[in-house]
Amino acid sequence: MTITTSNVVPCPEVESLDAILPEEPLLMMGAGPVPIPAAVAKANAIVINHLGNTMAKVVGQVKTMARYVFQTNSKWVLGVAGPGSAAMEMAISNLAWRGTRVLSIKNGFFSARMAEMGRRVGADVTLLEVEDRAVATLEQVEEAIRRTRPEIVTIVQGETSNTVWNYHLQDIAALAKKAGALVVVDAVCTLSTMPLDMDAWGIDAVITGGQKGLSSIPGVSLIAFSDAAWERVKGRKDASPHWCLDAALAENFWHNAGYHYTAPVSGVLALHEALRLVCAETLEKRFARHLRCSLALQAGISAMGLQLYAPAECRLNSVVGIEVPVKSSLTPADICGHISRYHQVEISGSFGLPIVRIGQMGEQARAHNLFRTLHAFGRTMSELDVRVDLPAGVAALERALAAGRE
Ligand SMILES: *Cc1c(COP(=O)(O)O)cnc(C)c1O
Repeated sequence: MTITTSNVVPCPEVESLDAILPEEPLLMMGAGPVPIPAAVAKANAIVINHLGNTMAKVVGQVKTMARYVFQTNSKWVLGVAGPGSAAMEMAISNLAWRGTRVLSIKNGFFSARMAEMGRRVGADVTLLEVEDRAVATLEQVEEAIRRTRPEIVTIVQGETSNTVWNYHLQDIAALAKKAGALVVVDAVCTLSTMPLDMDAWGIDAVITGGQKGLSSIPGVSLIAFSDAAWERVKGRKDASPHWCLDAALAENFWHNAGYHYTAPVSGVLALHEALRLVCAETLEKRFARHLRCSLALQAGISAMGLQLYAPAECRLNSVVGIEVPVKSSLTPADICGHISRYHQVEISGSFGLPIVRIGQMGEQARAHNLFRTLHAFGRTMSELDVRVDLPAGVAALERALAAGRE
């Protein structure tokens, strides 16, 4: 029997992935996604029933491990099928609605995104605009809280775009709490790379993605709500405008082994393995590894003669921003393109800022990846006619790593 079709769209001929992908995978040292461990890759290749006992057990363990990573005893841990931004939107669209007073501390590109999400659900959003390469002072936050009486305060722990670390986070959360506001923290690039104590710091919602600090795949994210935040979610009068991101519906799957939508089973299995590796390492050792590696990388780059973008006191360790020398007339894209093409290492530019960024999240923070990346980066700058002292950089990297070894 022949079945015909109109062939208005003829069957296309495309290249196979083997033809498109490089023979050897590029080393992913940008601002995410990051390299994944073999156990994560293996789990990501499996498909199982999204309902039933096996999945229920996996989900239970994911929540248990996530509570450790978030440092919360709250029951209300949920996964999200979607990028870190979907988890941000789940937080905002469930906690805020028309007229909700939201104060968004804006350090850059990602913290601005949370404010935008608030505006889109009709919230009354006030921006506390912070200068580039700086953090909001406690006085500024206190004043903004007094002026706007927010019901919700949003803040990013690490602003990946300009590589600023909001080191006042704990004190800002305390100020918000004292004023009766819920605190929503974007920890997409920082979770499991540096301390974040959700319960002890009084945070009401923490958001993370898969492809950064956790070293899992992109597309499956995690969120934790405090009891107070969950009460607000369950007590809202109108249903959340986003059906897929409705936390009350997501509870069906994440807490009652029921159906909301078909969960991204492979990605949940991958996340399970990523979290298991975090638990095997322990948070203390993982934080120490990230700090040691990032500081060593920073030392190497400085010793090569290049400038780091963020000042030391608010410099993010999870993602390191490096100034493109003004005299060079190079663009960030020139550098990223060259290091990828000739050295098989991927790094990032940053949304119009005159910097390139090297990540130190999860598997990126390993000595062998640092040596390869610093070498590739130094060679790239030389090949693009920027004078750098590569041997001095590599020596500084080795010295800093050696000093950190027990
Ligand atoms: C990467 C990132 C996001 C966005 O995550 P996506 O997975 O790209 O949606 C949000 N906030 C911060 C701080 C990030 O680093």
